Amino acid sequence: MPELPEVETVCRGLAPHLEGRVLVQVLQRRPNLRFPFPPDFCARLTGRRVESVRRRAKYILVHLDDGTVLIAHLGMSGRMIITPERPAEYGAHDHVVLETDAGTVVTFNDARRFGLMDLATAETLAGHPLLRSLGPEPLGNEFSGPVLAERLAGRMTSIKAALLDQTVVAGLGNIYVSEALFLSRISPTRIAATVTGAKADRLATAIREVLGRAIAAGGSSLRDYRQASGELGYFQHQFSVYDREGQPCPGCTCDVARTGGIQRIVQAGRSTFYCPQRQR
Ligand SMILES: [Zn+2]
Repeated sequence: MPELPEVETVCRGLAPHLEGRVLVQVLQRRPNLRFPFPPDFCARLTGRRVESVRRRAKYILVHLDDGTVLIAHLGMSGRMIITPERPAEYGAHDHVVLETDAGTVVTFNDARRFGLMDLATAETLAGHPLLRSLGPEPLGNEFSGPVLAERLAGRMTSIKAALLDQTVVAGLGNIYVSEALFLSRISPTRIAATVTGAKADRLATAIREVLGRAIAAGGSSLRDYRQASGELGYFQHQFSVYDREGQPCPGCTCDVARTGGIQRIVQAGRSTFYCPQRQR
């Protein structure tokens, strides 16, 4: 499932192909993804010039010259494929096709169809049902230790569960929550409300750092993708703890035979990976 750094990478990959270009043809190849497409979906996009491609949480926002905003979410398996011209034929999972006045074609492909597309306007965007309850953007200027502590105040769930709550911080998923808790040396089982002061500062910094590093890795994979298939959405990245159960902790020098290395626990049905020696 694409997480925030992958969505950011997709936005950065789309921007040079879409910004300033006119959408000369838009194809919708089925009536719905996770939700039905909005009425007149293609008509509202066709002929419009793209002003910018932005990201909010895990949503891709394509701003058009008449104030319309295309909201796209990659869901579980969605990807954007950029080709220099219209493909000879479309695949079964190619659901939406955007063709620009430069001839470039962006195809949204989603085998599992948990992705979605909707339309808003610049005015209604902030109040859109998908966006209005989102917490602060973790890479935004408004995010900090004190802001995070304020949003965690009174929450008696685990810090792991609180960070996955999109109203606390927007866009964090299972992988980067494990990674940020590891980097900040905070146990995933700690009660969220007890993450205050210096701990909250450390955690906010760690969240920005793990996302920033992953985006940097995505940037390098983007250059490879451009040369190869033109496909955006996924990249390989080395994690400190995620999916590393039983392996040596990269933060400790202790003996794996004695400590068991990285531990996996299940919280609210999702795996959490952490080092009990290091994270308190
Ligand atoms: Zn450790």
